[in-house]
Amino acid sequence: MSTDYYALLGVDKGATADEIKKAYRKLARELHPDVNPDPVAQEKFKMVTAAYEVLSDAEKRQMYDVGGDPRQGGFGGGQGGFDFGDIMDAFFGGNGGNQRGPRTRARRGQDALIRIQIDLSAAVFGATRDITVDTATTCGACSGSGMDGDSQPVVCAMCKGRGEMQQMQRSFLGNIMTTRACPNCQGFGTTIAHPCHECSGDGRVRTRRTMTIQIPAGVDTGTRIQLTGEGEVGPNGGSAGDLYVEIVQASHPVFERHGDELHCSVEVPMTSAALGSTITLETLDGPEDLDVKPGTQSGEQLILRGKGAARLRGGQRGDLHVHLEVRVPTNLDAEQTELLKKLASLRSEDAIRVSGESDENGGGLFSRLKDAFNQK
Ligand SMILES: [Zn+2]
Ligand SMILES: [Zn+2]
Repeated sequence: MSTDYYALLGVDKGATADEIKKAYRKLARELHPDVNPDPVAQEKFKMVTAAYEVLSDAEKRQMYDVGGDPRQGGFGGGQGGFDFGDIMDAFFGGNGGNQRGPRTRARRGQDALIRIQIDLSAAVFGATRDITVDTATTCGACSGSGMDGDSQPVVCAMCKGRGEMQQMQRSFLGNIMTTRACPNCQGFGTTIAHPCHECSGDGRVRTRRTMTIQIPAGVDTGTRIQLTGEGEVGPNGGSAGDLYVEIVQASHPVFERHGDELHCSVEVPMTSAALGSTITLETLDGPEDLDVKPGTQSGEQLILRGKGAARLRGGQRGDLHVHLEVRVPTNLDAEQTELLKKLASLRSEDAIRVSGESDENGGGLFSRLKDAFNQK
């Protein structure tokens, strides 16, 4: 009994290798057990695959053309270790287009995140810090393999190394073939008979280590510094994830930060505000002399260009805004009171009263209003 391989694939005897490939590919897509669970289709799939196995091989095709059958045993016997998967892979690339076979034990590790608190000065100028991280690192005893000594992984007895199990399920749509990870080897295709005693087969151990990191100038609360490959090492020799260091900037007793601008307030005695003076302010860059002009009013601000916080990119710095608050003296002694009264008299400010009362209620309110108008 001879089978017509050309007829099975639906090509004529003179078909080119390319035509044969195309014809098989078309049929395989219709008949492959993954798409078509019908037993008749599966039988036909075996037959067209056998035909393709012969006709796609120039030597076997020639043997067949002269009357021999290179397959001899015919179809369906399953002899010769014929693997449909191989054929499908050759056509559809990779793993038959649909993650097949055992998965690898090695996986990339997870990213890790730690937060560190720094002061304003470190955030503005950058700093070097030692941080302690607690992450999974490669097990030194097994170098990440997870195996004890020289032992080797053993092919899984349940799935024969395929890592997956196929199961036929009946549904109202017909039989459906499902594939799931092998429960014996968790889909790895192999089992580890003698796991490493240090890491119990995981290939990694938790380690606390100290590392030095560079904090760039201009970081702010919420800035994350990425350290590639310093995160958790993956299981069984997988590459490490990244480590993210998140910055928390501690509040400063004097300066308040808004982006790259800094703000602070400075109290100026009434006399200094009136007469003008110089105030020395300790900035992040060291002492700065502030020139308080005569007649300075409460609420005015002095701007020190480039003395603020740094920008993370570009390197420039923002400004420092110094808000001046004029302080009126309290608890005047007799002599000071006399002097101020004299000053008030000289400036005719003692006369600004609504009804000649000596208390601050009426006159005070009136002067405030008057001053407010005079300032415009
Ligand atoms: Zn180990
Ligand atoms: Zn298995």
